[in-house]
Parts: sequence; structure tokens; C-alpha cells
Amino acid sequence: MAESLRVEVQGHGVVEVQPPATFAEVAAKLALQDALAVEVDERVLDLSAKVLGPCRARFLTFADEAGLEVFRHSSAHLMAQAVLSLFPSAKPTIGPVVEEGFYYDFDAKPFTPEDLARIEARMAEIVQADLKLERLELSREQALEIFADNPYKCEMIRELPEGSISAYRQGDFIDLCRGPHVPRTGVLRAFKLTKVAGAYWRGDARNAQLQRIYGISFPDQGQLDEYLRRMEQARERDHRRIGQEMDLFSFHEEGQGFPFWHHKGMVLRNVIVDYWREAHRRYGYQEIQTPMILNETLWHTSGHWEHYRKNMYFTTIDDVPHAIKPMNCPGGLLVYKNRLHSYREFPLRVAELGLVHRHELSGVLHGLFRVRAFTQDDAHIFCTPAQFRSVVEETITLMFEIYNTFGFKEVAVELSTRPTEGTIGSDENWALAESGLEDALRAKGIAYKVNPGDGAFYGPKIDFHIRDCMGRSWQCGTIQVDFSMPERFGATYDAEDGTRKTPVMIHRALLGSLERFIGILSEQYAGRVPLWLNPVGVKVLPVADRFAEYAQKVANTLVA
Ligand SMILES: [Zn+2]
Ligand SMILES: [Zn+2]
Repeated sequence: MAESLRVEVQGHGVVEVQPPATFAEVAAKLALQDALAVEVDERVLDLSAKVLGPCRARFLTFADEAGLEVFRHSSAHLMAQAVLSLFPSAKPTIGPVVEEGFYYDFDAKPFTPEDLARIEARMAEIVQADLKLERLELSREQALEIFADNPYKCEMIRELPEGSISAYRQGDFIDLCRGPHVPRTGVLRAFKLTKVAGAYWRGDARNAQLQRIYGISFPDQGQLDEYLRRMEQARERDHRRIGQEMDLFSFHEEGQGFPFWHHKGMVLRNVIVDYWREAHRRYGYQEIQTPMILNETLWHTSGHWEHYRKNMYFTTIDDVPHAIKPMNCPGGLLVYKNRLHSYREFPLRVAELGLVHRHELSGVLHGLFRVRAFTQDDAHIFCTPAQFRSVVEETITLMFEIYNTFGFKEVAVELSTRPTEGTIGSDENWALAESGLEDALRAKGIAYKVNPGDGAFYGPKIDFHIRDCMGRSWQCGTIQVDFSMPERFGATYDAEDGTRKTPVMIHRALLGSLERFIGILSEQYAGRVPLWLNPVGVKVLPVADRFAEYAQKVANTLVA
């Protein structure tokens, strides 16, 4: 009798098997029913692979990324088998795994929704039959013979090096494939074909047009149902759809990434701004507005030229280079410097609903979530180092009050510290700013996560992430300490001891951007925003013409 082989299984200790044994037998000994494939020496293999010597193995399930890939790719084979049994003249080409499931491209006539339903029914039969998946190692000659009637597969076979050609068989279906695969079709229980699309062989429009079928699959029906429910919910709540249906805003070719606000969108925006102004008055803020276009030299002074140029737009006025502001701070500092300041007026809280422009690549633009122009609910607070902590605390209080008002109860807080390179400001100031923010969070009893090295180039920051009803997290608020920019701009104040000092500057935004926040609100409430925010509010409908005059009176009262 041959000597037994030691297989060290991650998380399960050592299993001894007698050769010739397969990894399926090792999994069986450990009662690992969910195993789909096995990773041995960094290679993912079929469970049917033989144990060739002592080794370390890790069994993969649907919960592992590599396991999920094996599962979904096996689902693509399952779909191809069903397609071929219903449409024998269809030629399968490739069927990879993608982020949202899998697809398979066929040289075939376009598939109809009825076809998809029939394919799904046939897939269910094949799952029921619980066919075994079998790996075949082939010579090029054998492979060309098996796939002789499929020019796409023959093209791929000719490109593969001899000795590395394999195929997988399940029942009467065979596909050229590197593998690995799940052991049996029976595990591919829950699936849904989601859409069809046109495609080209090798993605090239000069090649044959192909029919692509997309699908999604899970080990059990519950997971699939949950996935489909989430997809449906996200589709229904898509703010771009809601914006169109409620006539709030639109986007046009002529200004990619620049939202157009319609009347109802402006009503909603103004309700938000009215509340925002009221809250800020209560917290002792002033409000200013600074220009959108400013001389380029200002952006050299601020450090934006050096650190942020790639995201900025530029223009020329009277032959002098100017920049469109990507942030409101430099303008805010010019206002600050317009007169002398004393410690007696500190903390000086100056808010600005500032329209900023920032370049984003066209590929990442996404409704109101990712735009190139937006209104920041910005503010700069100037204070003494001694006041700094209490200013941060009061800002946190205002932040939570505002989120609460809009119905966001879950807020995650993150503290980002000094980046390893490219920062401005002294070590001493950075240390002071970081400990100040941390102290304020502790004093407020707020749990937070530290992101080492994620701070801005001019100072550390606290970020506030609100969680929406779909479990998504949105970074909205931020509090950033800045000991550097006031220094660069020569901003000062008369201190209590009679000397002239540099103030601490705090940059903060609560909603982040009005545009993005309205996008978040729309999806949170699926367009059914609370009454106080509703742009339509109340509709007055006269029951007969003779009441029209009275109805107008009522409407006038409501508007007032
Ligand atoms: Zn395959
Ligand atoms: Zn700022």
C-alpha cells in the first residue's frame, strides 16, 4: 500500500489521504459541503484534481472571491449548454465573469425576452439533472477536431500553446476552457438572466456581431431574491430618474457635468438653503459671497496651483491668467484681510454658499453625485489656538443637528491624519491640529475611525459619512484645520497680549455640496421627500369654476 499524503488544510489542520485521492475526498473528510474549488500553492484547481504530493490547501466557497468567480463562470457554462440545446446553430464564443455576474457571447440570431425565459427553464432542468463537470486535457489536434464547427473556438485554440489546452464536459455539452469549475451543475441553484446586448467578436466593430446574454447567480434562492430586490430598489430610486420625473433638474450635452436646475428643483433647493441659513444664524455665522473667477497668482499663494491644478479650469482676462475657483478659501481670506481683526471678535464664523468648479473625467460623471460644478455649503472659522477645540465641538453639534433634520440618524465619523508627503505647514502645527480634533471628538463622546495619512495637504480633518436607507455611506461633512493658509496669506489678528498673531482657520462643510445632497435626499426618500421639503407641497384644486377665485386666495395664503 502506498504511503499516505499529508494535506494541510487552512483552518482545518492536517488530513491524510491514500493516493490516488482527489481534493473532493479531502473536502468530504472535513464535511466541507460548500467547497466549490481548492487553492493549492496559489493555483485554483477543481475539487476533482488529484492530490499529487504533500501540500497546503485552502477550500474555496462562494464567500471567497476566487470561489465566487468559479461559481459564476460555471453558471456561464450552464447557460451556454441551455442555449445550445435550444438553438443548436448558435456558436458560443467567450463567457467571462464580470462585476455584476457573468455573460456569454453567441454568434446567433438576437434573443428575445421569451427566449431568455426558455433558456432559464432549460438551465433549471440541467441543474436538476446534477451533471458532473469533467476536465479534459487536449492536444491542439484533438481540440480542433472537437470544436471543428466553431470558427471562434478554433481561432482561440490556435493561439493557445500546446500542452495548455483543456475543455470541460457536462452531459452532452463541451466547452474549451481553462477552468476550474464547480464539481456538479446541481450547486448552481439560483440564477437569473438579466439582459441581452449586442457585442462584437474581440470587442472590435469590424468583426462579427454577437449576441451577449448577461446573468447573475447565487448558491441559494434567498441570496438571489435579495440581490434582485436591491437592484429594483436602486433602479426605482435612481435620482436621475426622479429628477426627470419630478422635473427638478436636467443635464445637457452642451454642458457635461453641469446641472441645470428647473423651477421645482430650485424650490426644493431654496427650502434647504432657507433652513441652512436659519441654523447658521442661530450658531452665530455671518454670510459672504466671493467671486468665481480670480487672478491665477492667488492660487499660487494658496498652494492650489501646486497641489490642485489638474482639477481646475482656467481663463484669461485682459491677457492676465485667471482661474475658476475650485474652493472658496482664498476668496474668504481676502475678505478677512480687508480689515484688521481682534481676538475680541473671535471665533469669527463666515459662511459661503460657494459655487465651485472642479474638473472630473467625463467617464466618472454621474447625475448629481459626480458633477463638475457644485455649490459647497462652506464656512471658514477664524479663532485663537485656545478656542480651536470648542469651535470644533460646536461645529460637530451643528453637523448632527442638520443631518437629523433631514432624517439621517446614522453618521460615521473618520479622522484623517497627515499624509506622508506633499504637505505644507510645520510638524508642530500638524501635531497640534491632530490632537485638537481628537480631543474634540472624545469630549463629544463620538466614536471614530482613524485614517492615517488621509488628511488634506494643509491640515488634518474629520469626515462625516451619513448612511442612507439602502445601507450606502456618503461622505458629506468635513471639518479641516488649517494653520498654514492664513500664514501664507499674511492673515493676522490683534491678540490679547497686544501682539499680532496668525489665526487658526477651520474649513468646514456640512451637506458637502447642495447638488449631491439633493441627489442623496431624492434616493433616500425615493422622490417622496418630507412635506417641508416637497417642491409641490400642497396642490389647491377648485372643485368648480365658481370657486376658482377663492382657490387662488387659498393658494396665495399657502405660498406666503
Ligand atoms: Zn469556461
Ligand atoms: Zn476652505
